[in-house]
Amino acid sequence: MTNSHRTMLQISHRIQDLSQSQTLAMSQKSSELRAQGIDVINLSVGEPDFHTPDHIKAAAVKAIDDNFTFYSPVPGYMSLRQAIVKNLQETDGATFTPEQIVVSGGAKQALCNVILSTINPGDEVIIPTPAWVSYVEMVKLAEGVSVTIPADINQDFKITPEQLRAAITPRTRMLLLCSPSNPTGSVYTRSELQALVDILKDCPEILVLSDEIYQHINYTDSYTSMTAFPEIADRAVIINGVSKAYAMTGWRIGFMAGPLQIAKACTKLQGQYTSGSSSIAQKAAEAAYLGPQECVSEMCEAFRRRRDLVVKLAKEIPGLKVNVPQGAFYLFPEVSSFFGKKYGDKVIRSAADVSMYLLEEAHVATVDGSAFCLPGYIRLSYATSDDTIREAMRRIAEALAKLK
Ligand code: PMP
Ligand code: GLU
Repeated sequence: MTNSHRTMLQISHRIQDLSQSQTLAMSQKSSELRAQGIDVINLSVGEPDFHTPDHIKAAAVKAIDDNFTFYSPVPGYMSLRQAIVKNLQETDGATFTPEQIVVSGGAKQALCNVILSTINPGDEVIIPTPAWVSYVEMVKLAEGVSVTIPADINQDFKITPEQLRAAITPRTRMLLLCSPSNPTGSVYTRSELQALVDILKDCPEILVLSDEIYQHINYTDSYTSMTAFPEIADRAVIINGVSKAYAMTGWRIGFMAGPLQIAKACTKLQGQYTSGSSSIAQKAAEAAYLGPQECVSEMCEAFRRRRDLVVKLAKEIPGLKVNVPQGAFYLFPEVSSFFGKKYGDKVIRSAADVSMYLLEEAHVATVDGSAFCLPGYIRLSYATSDDTIREAMRRIAEALAKLK
């Protein structure tokens, strides 16, 4: 039988113009190689390797037994939002009402909700780079313009007040900050943030979107949330969630906390395209926030130990330039000293080549730094066991030593 009309499938320009998430793509690639029997060590995707603590899992089982199986309110159960308010009060000293919180399918959706709810076509969003892969793409979805501020290893990947001032134009509507940072692990100190706030306080049209998802994976003595600055308190939006702090990446619960008007806009948006997030996962997140918090500091301690190990081993590898990350679970070494070198028919011209070479030659998956808008670097996630870190770094050292 012949088909009389030709099928013409269209993919929108919006999606055609969107880049694929490189972190997820690299992770997928290493899973495929593993399925082929190749022993790949995956340092690409960033997620805790710990299991979700038992008391949180038990709360999810109880939620099912108690029939928390219906649609949940679009911004999340009131009980969860109250638990989040309590947590923000205890950890940051911040005062929010439950109406200012919107719970979403991970911090990712919370971020995208805020960007889509506040950015008009042509509005400029300042993004210090290197920055997590999805920020620029979310701004693109909103038809906004990303204005990146490069901050390399020589400034510990943190922008200066002068750089911020120079990036602001009459079209700037948002500053998107991430501390502790993915992909560098850098943490802004209170005085560094104050210096940025001193500029922002005179720019009432700029919203500060602060991604604090790695707040609890912080190796410095203190943590300063963007909620700490009264000068901008009425236009700071905080993003956080349970994925990293409680080892709950698969549960998909994150939230925004900010001005009521923006919370309402996010609820309207979410109500039209996903509704409230999973009822069961929300009950688990509630247990995470209200239950014992020792699990959070125990996991952070393990990440700190691994940070020390990975930094020590990376510093022993000739040609890698590393900083000492103060939070999160990433190392972002500079690899440009390998450009122009080769092994066999493999020639290294970029960090993407280094990353691909390490995958093929060392069977270690990393992510090319240009995915984070800073070429010349690669990202390693060290959220894995000490033994795996040792073996991965041994393989990396061996493969890089072959480049001449
Ligand atoms: N922000 C940053 C900086 C992240 O690294 C991640 C992890 N993918 C997210 C947001 C999203 O977190 P979630 O898994 O809760 O969506
Ligand atoms: N935050 C993780 C990463 O950057 C998860 C993957 C993603 O959502 O991008 O690797």
